[in-house]
Amino acid sequence: MVRTSAPDTTIATARPEWAKARRIVVKIGSALLTDQKSGRIKSDWLNSFMDDVAELAKAGKEIVLVSSGSIALGRHALKLPKGPLALEQSQAAASVGQISLAHAYQDLAAARGLTAAQILLTLGDTEERRRYLNARNTIEVLLALKAIPVVNENDTVATAEIRYGDNDRLSARVASMVSADCLVLLSDVDGLYTAPPANNSEAKHIPLVTEITPEIEAMAGDAGTELSKGGMKTKIEAAKIALASGSDMVITTGKILHPLRAISQGARVTWFIAKSDPVTAKKRWISGRLVPNGQVFLDAGAEKALATGKSLLPAGVTRVEGSFDRGDAVIIRAADGRELGRGLIAYAADDARRIIGKHSSEIAAILGFEGRDTLIHRDDMALTRK
Ligand code: GLU
Repeated sequence: MVRTSAPDTTIATARPEWAKARRIVVKIGSALLTDQKSGRIKSDWLNSFMDDVAELAKAGKEIVLVSSGSIALGRHALKLPKGPLALEQSQAAASVGQISLAHAYQDLAAARGLTAAQILLTLGDTEERRRYLNARNTIEVLLALKAIPVVNENDTVATAEIRYGDNDRLSARVASMVSADCLVLLSDVDGLYTAPPANNSEAKHIPLVTEITPEIEAMAGDAGTELSKGGMKTKIEAAKIALASGSDMVITTGKILHPLRAISQGARVTWFIAKSDPVTAKKRWISGRLVPNGQVFLDAGAEKALATGKSLLPAGVTRVEGSFDRGDAVIIRAADGRELGRGLIAYAADDARRIIGKHSSEIAAILGFEGRDTLIHRDDMALTRK
C-alpha cells in the first residue's frame, strides 16, 4: 500500500512506532560522515549525531550503529586517485580508514559517557547459521553491558564474491539479527519518492509503505552517489529484509545536524511498517539470507498448501534450479516466477531433481535411502509476508 503527499508536507509528530522502538539500528553512509574534499570525518555532523545517540540511550533505547566510511577515509590518507578503486585498493583503504572511523566513534561516545564497540562482519558471519548465532550473541552481550556496537563490513578481507557490498543491506541483516524494532537509514534524501527526485520535479514523497510491491521497487530507480554503494535500490532491498523479519524501517535525511532528533520531532521521512505478528528467530535468519543457492518452482496446488501453513512436498514441485546441498537456502517460486518465500531445502540439488513430482512414499526407492518426506519443512521456511 502506498500513500503519497505533496513535497512540502511536514508530519507534525513522529509515528508511535518511533517512541515505542526499544532497540534501534542506525545506518550512517560515507557521504554523510566524510568530507569529500578533505577526506576527513565531518566532526560537527558526527558530534550532533552522537548527541542524538546519547539522548536515545538516556531514554533507555539500545542503539546499534552500522557505519560506512572506512574506504572514503582511507583512500584519502593513502592518496589514492579519484574514481573507482580496484578491489585490493579498497581493501587497503579500508584497513587504514577503519582505524580513524573506530577512533572517532570511541572518542565521541566516551565524551558522552558511552562505550563504543567495534564489530567487523563478513558475509559468512550472517549467512552461516553458527557464525550468525555467534555474532548475534556478541552484540546481545554488548547491548546488555550498555555499549554501543559500531558495525561495518570487514572490507579488508571481503572480496567481490563474499561481500555485502553496501551497508544498506548489511544494516538490515544486523537489524534482523538483533530483532531490532526499528532500522533507520540515514540518506541524502528524506525518503522514498515516486521517482528519483533529483531529476524529476513531479516526484512525490511517500510517507508510508506497508508492503514492497513491484510498484515500490520501480520507484527506487538507482540513486547511488559516488561515495556510497547504495542507492534507493539497495534501501528497498534493505526494507524487504527488515519487514520480513518484523523490524520497521525509516528512510530519512542525514544531511542535517541532529538527524535522529529530527525524527522524534516529526521530520519528513518514509516509514516502512512491518506486520506486527512475531517472526521466529530462525525464520528471520532464513528470510534475510542474501545469497540463496537455488530455486524451486511450485505448481498451483503446492502454492495453496504453503499459504495454509503446510510444508513443501516433492510432489508439488515442477522444477529446481541451481546447485545446492542439503540444508542450503533456496528461493521458493510460484509457477509464474513470483517469489513466495525462502527455505532450507532437505535434499541436495541432484537428489531433489530426481524426486520432484513424485509422492513422498517413493523417495526411498528412487534415492536408495530414507530421507525426509518434505522437501522444505514449514519450520525451515519463511514465506513473504502479505
Ligand atoms: N563498508 C564500506 C565502507 O565502510 C561502505 C559500503 C557502503 O557505502 O554502503 O567504506
